[in-house]
Amino acid sequence: MPEVIRQLSELVANQIAAGEVVQRPASVVKELMENSVDAGAKRIDVRVVDAGRTLIQVTDNGVGMVRNDARRCFDRHATSKISKAEDLFAIVSKGFRGEALASIASIAHVELKTCHAEEEEGTRIQMKGGQVGEELPCPAETGTSISVKHLFFNVPARRNFLKSDAVEMRHVLDEFQRVALAHEGIHFTLQHNQAEMFNLKPGSQRQRVVGVFGSKYDERLVPIEESTDVFSVEGFVGKPAFARRSRGEQFLFVNQRFVKHHVLNRVIMEAYAGLLPPGQFPLYVLFLTIDPSRLDVNIHPTKTEVKFDEDRTIQALLLPAIRRGLGKYAVAPSLDFDQESSLIIAPLDVHRAVIEPQVRVNKDYNPFHVPSDSKARGGLRPGGGQIDAWKSLYGQDALNSEEPKNKEWIQPTPAVVVLPSTDFIQGRSLEEEAGSEVRPMFQFQKRYIVTATQSGMWMVDQHRAHQRVVYEALVVRLESNEKAVSSQQLLFPELVVLPAADRDFMLDSASWLNQLGLHFQSHEDGIEITGMPAEGETRSIDLVEAVLSEKDSDGSGISRPERVAAQMARALAVKPGRVLNAQEMEDLLDRLFGCSTPSLDPFGKPVIATFEMKEIEQRFN
Ligand code: ADP
Ligand code: MG
Repeated sequence: MPEVIRQLSELVANQIAAGEVVQRPASVVKELMENSVDAGAKRIDVRVVDAGRTLIQVTDNGVGMVRNDARRCFDRHATSKISKAEDLFAIVSKGFRGEALASIASIAHVELKTCHAEEEEGTRIQMKGGQVGEELPCPAETGTSISVKHLFFNVPARRNFLKSDAVEMRHVLDEFQRVALAHEGIHFTLQHNQAEMFNLKPGSQRQRVVGVFGSKYDERLVPIEESTDVFSVEGFVGKPAFARRSRGEQFLFVNQRFVKHHVLNRVIMEAYAGLLPPGQFPLYVLFLTIDPSRLDVNIHPTKTEVKFDEDRTIQALLLPAIRRGLGKYAVAPSLDFDQESSLIIAPLDVHRAVIEPQVRVNKDYNPFHVPSDSKARGGLRPGGGQIDAWKSLYGQDALNSEEPKNKEWIQPTPAVVVLPSTDFIQGRSLEEEAGSEVRPMFQFQKRYIVTATQSGMWMVDQHRAHQRVVYEALVVRLESNEKAVSSQQLLFPELVVLPAADRDFMLDSASWLNQLGLHFQSHEDGIEITGMPAEGETRSIDLVEAVLSEKDSDGSGISRPERVAAQMARALAVKPGRVLNAQEMEDLLDRLFGCSTPSLDPFGKPVIATFEMKEIEQRFN
């Protein structure tokens, strides 16, 4: 048998990492701005041309780099920010993985000009597709300027899937605003084509928020400030009267890093219980500060997810902090913070029959399960979609509840129920949804995703595409020795009866199976599954069978854990016959094109069939 395993070249490894770090021009803007912040810059100028497609340039007056560092900064895992594993638990910088510049340089043309304060001459380095080009001296002006041109020049799949300039520019603006909001002490400018879009001078937090959103926001802000031993929170929440029908104005920062945290988001919404009708979202710009050792930011390559040690404590403190803020500014009725719930119940009218408040909770709701019918996800669609979601969760009368005759009597509204809203899962706002151009896409025979590209039409096999996505996610974790793949704990362990030999095989393989997200314990009749990979949908028995199917295969080719990863991916991936809604199709394709080999499934079968414009035209000849 010939040997088939090869070490991936540095370039390919970087391109794979780029698939995770750089999804679109906005990702480059974010990474470069964060590097400038980390370099201690007091002024950061961002320039983009054609929404970043043609040029992204970030110039700062930070510490700069000495020549050898300038050469090294494009190496994979080259970072000045951490040096040992323990440092991961004390991260104060934005970056630490040392993969942004290497990734960007592998998929674009990059020019770096930098000069360290203590050097007499600057350095200029040009990179093309990961290759170091010319290195020249340049004038000594302390700081760094990085230009990124021809993004995705060697990744056509990504390039073809970029959206219109308007949409890509929205993403750039989002990233710019997130960094600018978190660093009110830094002077930021943003120029698009020839126009200056932002010029944000250093100032107070309030000035920065108003600078970013516009002067009419000044009166909409309610300051929040609270600090305890565990954490502190400051910032602003919006007055309920100015709430919007979208989540576009919600910003949560943890240690000056923009994060998406569904639970805290829900807690904040809960603070508004009774103040907002369903489907309305308040503005907030909140900054949490917490000891970095109690925080894990290394969960995802883009670092927008965090985990807290003391999740519950923070939740418990955040809610009253916001209520108090709202109460102080007399925008909320006086609320009793010690009470469990925030129902406002006026004295009962003795002549009126007591109506027991009905709280309907959808017991079947499973936050890990993406509903397959698009109606349940109506919250994502503009125009009353949220109401559909509301109805489907709580029933029609949740909305039609009879107006109380006595207006003083405020009926407990369903708004106090924590809504496990489906669009928390997606985190996409209506605004984004409405603003994004619709890429024509539909599902054919419940099995293929048909979509238009710039050069023709593609049909993507949904089952194989998802296998590829799941497979790469599993393998990356296997290789990187990172924490286990996010795994979903089962409420009740599930017994899988196995012959002794199979059970022993499972137990012997436990360490790498855990890494793949499969957790279990020994049982006299087999094993008890306690956790499964969070992605995908399958029964525990099918997953175990997938593992055991590789038990007796010979050791040729790829390693057993990788073969098992492929089998698991097959079991977990969405099956043919599963109806996908527009969002699911788009997400799947987006992730597929982030893969290193989007065109093949883990077993080498084609994922995509392409139909070139020419071929199509010929058919009509
Ligand atoms: P990370 O930010 O995770 O360390 P990057 O690939 O983004 O990784 O950057 C690699 C290194 O290059 C940084 O650790 C830093 O030392 C240096 N660097 C990058 N951008 C700048 C900048 N604007 N000014 C000074 N040094 C920089
Ligand atoms: Mg960085």
